[in-house]
Amino acid sequence: MEFSNGLISAAYIVAALLFIFSLSGLSKQETAETGNTYGIMGMVIALVATIADERVSNVLVIFVAMVIGAVIGLRLAKKVEMTGMPELVAILHSFVGLAAVLVGFNSYFEMDHGVAFNFTDTQQVAINIHLVEVFLGVFIGAITFTGSIIAFGKLRGVISSSALMLPHRHKLNLAAGVLSFILMINFVQSGGSDTALYLMTLIALVFGWHLVASIGGADMPVVVSMLNSYSGWAAAAAGFMLNNDLLIVTGALVGSSGAILSYIMCKAMNRSFISVIAGGFGTDVVIDNDTDYGDHLEINADAVADILRGAKSVIITPGYGMAVAQAQYPVYEMTQALKNRGIDVRFAIHPVAGRLPGHMNVLLAEARVPYDIVFGMDEINDDFPQTDVVLVIGANDTVNPAANDDPKSPIAGMPVLEVWNARDVIVFKRSMNTGYAGVQNPLFFKDNTQMLFGDAKDSVEQIFKAL
Ligand code: NDP
Repeated sequence: MEFSNGLISAAYIVAALLFIFSLSGLSKQETAETGNTYGIMGMVIALVATIADERVSNVLVIFVAMVIGAVIGLRLAKKVEMTGMPELVAILHSFVGLAAVLVGFNSYFEMDHGVAFNFTDTQQVAINIHLVEVFLGVFIGAITFTGSIIAFGKLRGVISSSALMLPHRHKLNLAAGVLSFILMINFVQSGGSDTALYLMTLIALVFGWHLVASIGGADMPVVVSMLNSYSGWAAAAAGFMLNNDLLIVTGALVGSSGAILSYIMCKAMNRSFISVIAGGFGTDVVIDNDTDYGDHLEINADAVADILRGAKSVIITPGYGMAVAQAQYPVYEMTQALKNRGIDVRFAIHPVAGRLPGHMNVLLAEARVPYDIVFGMDEINDDFPQTDVVLVIGANDTVNPAANDDPKSPIAGMPVLEVWNARDVIVFKRSMNTGYAGVQNPLFFKDNTQMLFGDAKDSVEQIFKAL
């Protein structure tokens, strides 16, 4: 079945609109499911229209590839835990990057280029534009490819999450950028040079690796959404090379929404957007875990239940540990038990708590915690001084006072939940280990803080029983 060009363009416009509706739906929890459905519908229309294009000759190969991809995708999506989601997203971005590199090389080898041809001026301009598309597509794709693999490794913990600090690293980045630009001029002027393309690809692969390797753990959320943006631009570049309008539109949507999200996250973490995307510019900080903060106090579940019984107001600040322990269900039960006793219970969510933006909101929604008792950091941070008890369930970096007090800390300047201003703080974790950024948390040693050691789910269940 072949569609006319007009019909394909119409299908592409409908698909593009559905993608826009999808993004708009995904921006709110209540409409996220509908947003997802729009996205699926858009993708189905896009796939059918693309396969029906008269330029597509080998439909069977596409079907086989799609079936293999769908089986792997379904298996992965079913298996992956919420905590593993950013890793999955990172590795998927690397595929987009690799695809852009392959499309670029293919498009370059297929075209007529080189000085041996006698092109008219108009033809030459079109060829030059195409060469720039190929060059930029391969460049962005290669950076996205290696950058995403490093991000995957860091999030999975197979590579250290601390920032790689090579000497003169900013100069190295600058040199890679300048050299690639010179190669692009050479590539276009020579009507396409294999050497320039190969050399740039190599530089871009190393550049992508270095760019993400030099970003520290606390900035990883921004990196993930930044790579999301890069993968969008890589897809848009592939769209230009393949003359596919929908790929250009979709790539631009992903590219710009990823960039906007990175910017919003940088603002939330008080990071400079440029410094993060430039590969850790300005992260000359020292991780100092030798400071003696004194002793910490320990508490058991029964004693926590006693404190809670006497409280009028409680704020729960969940973090990555709640996701690991899957403690959201007993947390919901405990919340109900406290509310039944007339205690005011609310949740305070840090924008980068957990391992992906919105991670905690999704977990709490899954456990049926009502939306109206879940508050963002800015909405609730001023309420801690009037709060009796704060339960810090598996959160660490997001409640670290060093972000405010220690300018040398890797998380300095990141706004945090100021839980220490409450009357009593109970921290649920398994040990005195550090959080994701790898820094010690002075909160654990404050006079009004008590540590409840153990798996968060077990601890919450014990408190629920005691209540
Ligand atoms: P952290 O990652 O700082 O700390 C989590 C804590 O949970 C650890 O200290 C750990 O301590 C504890 N924990 C782990 N498993 C359990 C368990 N089963 N039971 C009880 N406690 C447990 O958490 P936050 O949510 O506060 O901060 C998120 C961090 O991740 C930030 O640094 C953020 O920048 C980064 N990040 C965020 C992303 C996002 O988009 N949200 C993406 C990537 C990174 P112990 O081992 O002692 O139990």
